[in-house]
Amino acid sequence: MQLETSFAYIDENYRRIVYEIEEAKAKYRKPDDEVTLMAVTKTVSPENVNHAIGCGISVLGENRVQEYLSKKEFYLPQAQVHFIGHLQTNKVKYIIEDMKLIHSVDSVKLAAEIDRHAARAKKKQDILIEVNIGGEASKSGVQPSELEHLLEEISKMPHIQVKGLMTIPPATGNEKFFAQMQAIFLDISAKNMDNIDMEILSMGMSGDYATAIRYGSTLVRIGTALFGARNYQ
Ligand SMILES: *Cc1c(COP(=O)(O)O)cnc(C)c1O
Repeated sequence: MQLETSFAYIDENYRRIVYEIEEAKAKYRKPDDEVTLMAVTKTVSPENVNHAIGCGISVLGENRVQEYLSKKEFYLPQAQVHFIGHLQTNKVKYIIEDMKLIHSVDSVKLAAEIDRHAARAKKKQDILIEVNIGGEASKSGVQPSELEHLLEEISKMPHIQVKGLMTIPPATGNEKFFAQMQAIFLDISAKNMDNIDMEILSMGMSGDYATAIRYGSTLVRIGTALFGARNYQ
């Protein structure tokens, strides 16, 4: 698991991140805009995750189905859980009941599987579409040019509600990519597509969340800056 982390270290990180989020909002955003701080839990012990919930974290981000299943029973129940990792179609059934939001939908095939399992679980599943804004072969996500077509297909699925977009931009030059994501998000919002809500723009991680907030992020996903370095990726 993780390199040893003290609760005091998490406290201090939490306060700094909240301060920097507020600072970026004050500089770049409207006063009543909300930006959610998600704690990304990969490799982090449930004790440390629960400590972060005690600090005020209300949303957890899970990457790996197996790791989530081994830790979920130890989590305090008051935080929402979101799935943010690459999701294989054959794993949807293990997480569908627990997830408030799935950030990483990038194909009709995955959406159809989520729709099918959501129907069985008698829920309407909120999702985001992951956009591969840098066009990187190594990354998941739909190409920007395919986004509208994917939204049209998913909007017909009765047990799915699209709530917005998510991205993981290339490691360098991310300001340009955040600006492009904001433009796409606003463009899709303005189209008022049937059954498509554009409320959530999930972008920004430990190294770039202030920049992401500048370009309209409504949810930042923070691991390292809150819990410290991971010893596997
Ligand atoms: C790991 C991860 C994060 C958090 O990354 P940090 O740089 O540690 O903050 C955010 N989003 C996704 C999808 C991740 O896999």
